[in-house]
Amino acid sequence: MIPLRAAAFCPEKRAEKKVIDRGPCSGAILESEGIVKTTGIRRKSLLGKPKGTQAAKRPRGPEYAQGEIIMDKSAVYFTDFHVSNETLPQKLRRLMKRAGFEEIDFTDRYAAIKIHFGELGNLAYLRPQYARVVADYVRALGGMPFLTDCNTLYVGSRKNALDHLETAYLNGFSPLQTGCHVIIADGLKGTDEALVPIDLPLVKEAKIGQAIMDADIVISLSHFKGHEEAGFGGALKNLGMGSGSRSGKMEQHWEGKPVVETENCVGCGSCVRICAHGGPAVTDGKARIDHAKCVGCGRCLAVCPKNAIVPSDANSTAILSQKIAEYAYAVVKDRPAFHISLICDVSPFCDCHAENDVPIIPDVGMLASFDPVALDQACVDLCNRMPVNPGSRLDRHIKSFWDDDPNHEYFHLNHPDAEWEAGLIHAEEIGLGTRAYELIRI
Ligand code: SF4
Ligand code: SF4
Repeated sequence: MIPLRAAAFCPEKRAEKKVIDRGPCSGAILESEGIVKTTGIRRKSLLGKPKGTQAAKRPRGPEYAQGEIIMDKSAVYFTDFHVSNETLPQKLRRLMKRAGFEEIDFTDRYAAIKIHFGELGNLAYLRPQYARVVADYVRALGGMPFLTDCNTLYVGSRKNALDHLETAYLNGFSPLQTGCHVIIADGLKGTDEALVPIDLPLVKEAKIGQAIMDADIVISLSHFKGHEEAGFGGALKNLGMGSGSRSGKMEQHWEGKPVVETENCVGCGSCVRICAHGGPAVTDGKARIDHAKCVGCGRCLAVCPKNAIVPSDANSTAILSQKIAEYAYAVVKDRPAFHISLICDVSPFCDCHAENDVPIIPDVGMLASFDPVALDQACVDLCNRMPVNPGSRLDRHIKSFWDDDPNHEYFHLNHPDAEWEAGLIHAEEIGLGTRAYELIRI
C-alpha cells in the first residue's frame, strides 16, 4: 500500500479509491487496492450517548474515544496545556518534533506558515509566540520561513495587503516578535494568484495566493474554533479558504458572480475600469454587472470605494465545506506539508470577527500531524469530550436545541446550519487524508 502520508497528496492514489458504502453517520467505507477499510469515527461512538441524553452526563476530559477503525490510521500527536518544567512554546516544539517535523528537508527551502492574524478587535486568535516557535524551528532546520495569509472578501481590517499587514503587526505578528516576515500571499488587492489544476468534482482549477504556491513547503498553524458556516475552523479551513485569493474565496463561498447594491453605488466607474471582461457598466449613475461577461475574478470588489459590490447568493454550507476541502487539496498537493492546531480560546465564531464571545469549552491542547483531515477529526472529537462553558453560546444552544438536534454534537449545536462533516467526508474521498487516526499523547 502507498503510505497514508503519500496517499494523501497523490492524485493517482485518489483515483484508486472508490466509495462503496457509507457509514450511518460520519465514516465512508473505502475500497483501496483490494483492501476494505473503515475510516472515520462514527458519531454513536464519538458521543457515546443516544439522542436525548443530557450534556451534563457525557464523558468529560480529552480522553481518546475511538470508533470502529480497522486499519490505516493517521498519527495525530497531542499534548494539553499543562506544564511543569517547560514553557508552552517549548512544549509545542517538543510536540512538533515527536510528530516528525524534522523528517521534512527544509534545507534552503521556503516554508509558508499559513496562519490567521485575527481581525482587529478579536482577541481569540493565536498568540504570535506560537508562530515564533514554528518559524525558529524551520530556521534551525535550514529553511526560510514566512508567515502568510490571503486577503478577505468582506469589508474589515484585512481586505487589502496594506490593511492586512498593519493588522498583523498590530496583533503582534511583527518580525521582532515572530522572527520572520509576513507576506500577504495574494498581493495588494487580492488578485495575485496561482491557478492550480486539480480537476476535482467541484473545483477544476483552484485560485491560490501566489506566495503560498511559490513556497516549497506548507505548514498550517491553525487556531481551532467555531465557524458560522463551516462549523469549525481548523486545518482544512485555514488551508483551503484561507489560501484562496479573492476569486478563490468567491468560488468557495458563492457561485462566483458579484452583484451591485445600487443604493450604495455612486457611479464612480472604478469597477468598469478594473474589469478585464466588460462585466460592469454604469447607466444613470449606477453600476450593474453583466453575468454573461463576468468571470468572477473579484477585482471589482477590491476597488469599489463604497463597498457596493458584493458576492451573490451563497452556496449551501455542505458545498462550502466540500470546496474548502478541494482548495486545501490544491494547497498541499505535490509538496511537503505539516499541520498544527491549537485548541484554545474556542470562540463560537471565526477569528474574522472583530469580536470574540465567551469560549464555548475550556482549552484542550495542541495537536500536530502530517494528515490535515485526521487532525481536524481529532480536534472535533477532543472538543466534543469537554465540558461546556456555562453561559456560552453553546451552553445556551444546548439548553434550547439539544433534543431537537439529531447530531448532538457541539459544532452542530453551536451553528445548526453548518455541515462540517460533509467537508471531512469529501476530503477523504478526494484523497486528502483520512478521518481515522491514532491519538498519541506526549
Ligand atoms: S468579478 Fe471580475 S469579471 Fe466579474 S465584474 Fe468584477 S472585475 Fe469583472
Ligand atoms: S466602483 Fe462601486 S461605487 Fe463605483 S461605479 Fe462601481 S459599484 Fe458603483
